[in-house]
Parts: sequence; C-alpha cells; structure tokens
Amino acid sequence: MNAGQTDLRTRFEAAFMPNYGVPPVALARGEGSRVWGADGREYLDLIGGIAVSSLGHAHPAIVRAVSEQVATLAHTSNLYLHEQEVLLAERLLGLLGAPGRVFLCNSGAEANECAYKLAVKYGKATGRTYFVATENGFHGRTMGALSLTGKASIREPFGPFPVDVRFVPFDDVDALKAAVTDQCAAVFLEPTQGEAGVVPASEGYLTAVREICDATGALLVADEVQSAIGRAGHWFAHQADGFTPDILTLAKGLGGGMPIGAVVGFGPAGTIYEKGDHGSTFGGNPVSCAAALAVLDTIDSENLLAHVRTVGDRLARGVAAVDHPLLTGVRGRGLWRAILLAEPKAAQVQAAAERAGFLVNAVQPAAVRLAPPLVITSEEIDAFLAALPAILTEAADA
Ligand SMILES: *Cc1c(COP(=O)(O)O)cnc(C)c1O
Repeated sequence: MNAGQTDLRTRFEAAFMPNYGVPPVALARGEGSRVWGADGREYLDLIGGIAVSSLGHAHPAIVRAVSEQVATLAHTSNLYLHEQEVLLAERLLGLLGAPGRVFLCNSGAEANECAYKLAVKYGKATGRTYFVATENGFHGRTMGALSLTGKASIREPFGPFPVDVRFVPFDDVDALKAAVTDQCAAVFLEPTQGEAGVVPASEGYLTAVREICDATGALLVADEVQSAIGRAGHWFAHQADGFTPDILTLAKGLGGGMPIGAVVGFGPAGTIYEKGDHGSTFGGNPVSCAAALAVLDTIDSENLLAHVRTVGDRLARGVAAVDHPLLTGVRGRGLWRAILLAEPKAAQVQAAAERAGFLVNAVQPAAVRLAPPLVITSEEIDAFLAALPAILTEAADA
C-alpha cells in the first residue's frame, strides 16, 4: 500500500512483458471524473481508461450492482443461464430497435472474433472467400481481429494470416465499390475510426457502404467497440449515421469498467451460428452483466446522451477557440474528440497535460484523444480548456 510511483514502475518493469512499456502514472483510486495517483496526486481523467469508464470511477450505481451481484452469484458458465444476461440482451435489442440476437463475451477483440467467425460461416455457405476492411482501422490484437486491423505496423509482424483480407482507404466509396464483389463475405469497419485518431466518415459514406453490401450480399460488420454506449452522443453511433449493420460489435464503455463485450446479429445474421459453433466460459458473467445494466440504466435516468452532446460541443468549441500555433483543429463527436496538432508532438502534449493534472492520450503522433467519462461536468471541461494553452506551450517547447 501507498507504494510510490517510482517503486511501482520499477517493479512493473521487472515483472511484466515489455509490450506496454512502463506507463507513466500508477493510479490508486478514482471518483467521478477524477483519479488519484499512487503518490496522492489528483488528475482529471479525460481518457476514461480508453473510452471504458463511461460513468466515471466508483459510480454508486455500478458499485451497488456489482457488489450485490458478486455477493449473490458471480459466475455460471454457459452451462447455465441467469437473469442478468437475459435482461442485458433484451435491453440491447430494445435500444437497437431492430430484431436480432446477441452473443456476450469479455472484450472488443473477442466480440470481433465472434463477428469474424459468423462471417466465415456465412462465406462458406454462400461461396464467398474474402473480407474487406479499412486502412488504419483497429479491431483488436487477437490473430483474427488483428488480421482485419488496417494498421500495417501492428499487423504485419504477426502475418501472414490464413484469411484473405483486402484493405481499402477509409471514407472512399469508390475504393470500397471496387473491392466488394459477390465473392466478399463481409466488410468490417468502425463508423468513426478510434485508434486512427477519432476520424469520422464523411456524410453519406456509411449509407453508401450499406448499399454496396446490399447490392453484393456482403455482410456489413460495424465495430462499435469504442463508438457506442453514449460515447458519440447516441446509444450507438450508427443510429446517428443512418444505417443498420448486419453485425454490431460492442465492448469498452458497455461495462463501465467491468470487462464485457457483445455481438448483435440483426435479422438472418442473428442465427448463423448453430449449437456448438461458438462459446465463452466467462462471457456474459452475471457481474459484468449487472454492471452493464447499471450503465445503461444510468445513461437513461441521468439523461446522459443529451449531456454528452452538450458538454461534448462545449469541449470542441472551447478547443477550437484556443489560438495557439501548435493547435490546428479538433474533430470527433460527443465526448470523443481528437485535438489536432501542427507537429508530431502529441506525446509532449500528453506529458505536459499530465504534469498539469489532466490525463489525455497521444493516440497518433499529431493527435491527442479525449474520451472522458460521460458524466464529466461543464466545470471540469472548462478547467481543462483554461489549462490547454499553457499545456500546448510547454509541449511546443519540449
Ligand atoms: C479497443 C478496440 C478494440 C479491441 O478491444 P479490446 O477490448 O482491447 O480487445 C476493437 N475495436 C475497436 C474499434 C476498439 O476501439
């Protein structure tokens, strides 16, 4: 207890594989949109565990739901069903407002693995042999999800992959049209690319993708692992984008910090799997389902979708109003934004922000991602906006 930052970081480095490097801050606790380091320093959390801590930290609704459930029944496996998972699946389908079926798992990569296997099975049944995904897209680190991930620097060291995936530039209708034929099993994409730096599609792109998939019979898989559950100011980003995918994948914000992922197959895509085709021992465990239900209930009862749009716009307007040579713009939607820089100094901005008491994420060399808890207040946003010019100056000089 109370181990200092340096001590914990040294022990982390000795005990863990080097894949993450050593994170700069050891966190000890959180409350609302604030977290405290192991050394007692307070931070405003503007990244929310990568768009995961949707209700912030230690939200009473999640604490209550998880505590009660873990004290009642923590695990059943898929050999037995339980009420929480049924409630959650029904709830998701109700929010989606279209007939479908749900699969529950534990993470984003797992959700995409499930979607991938659904598409493989669909392809085998219909003579479709390849997949299309987008350049700079991100779908996870498992071999299947990685094979769909459009960032060559993280995919290629682990290739070749056993499945034929063809990459097209994101937001390019003509390129997609040329790539998708009646031999294509599925198109995988994020409606707004998160890891690429919160890059939204142009108006009309996603409805064009839907039309291309309809014309060729390719399944449209929307990876909303990062964009859904209020992050973009709507339950699901695709609802605002005006299209319905065949398969939807969810994770990150759904559990408000508890690990859970979900896949929804709409219409016929909901019944591609037959008994025995897929499974997960921990998937849909009662504790994570209880957390997810608390998240969805709270977004509803606290009217958080409207709040996200209001404070998200305030954040974007406030960043855009900062006049600084290092800042070139801001993009994104809701509480999901990227601050764009004139130079590749995102790492320096992240470090300067941390010194000033704000956690932000250098998602790209010249883009800083903000994905704060959906419960962040206007006052907290304003505190960051007031500090931003000095943070940028410090980063520019670093
Ligand atoms: C984070 C992310 C994933 C991977 O999720 P994990 O839970 O880390 O496996 C997949 N797709 C998108 C769009 C993501 O943002």
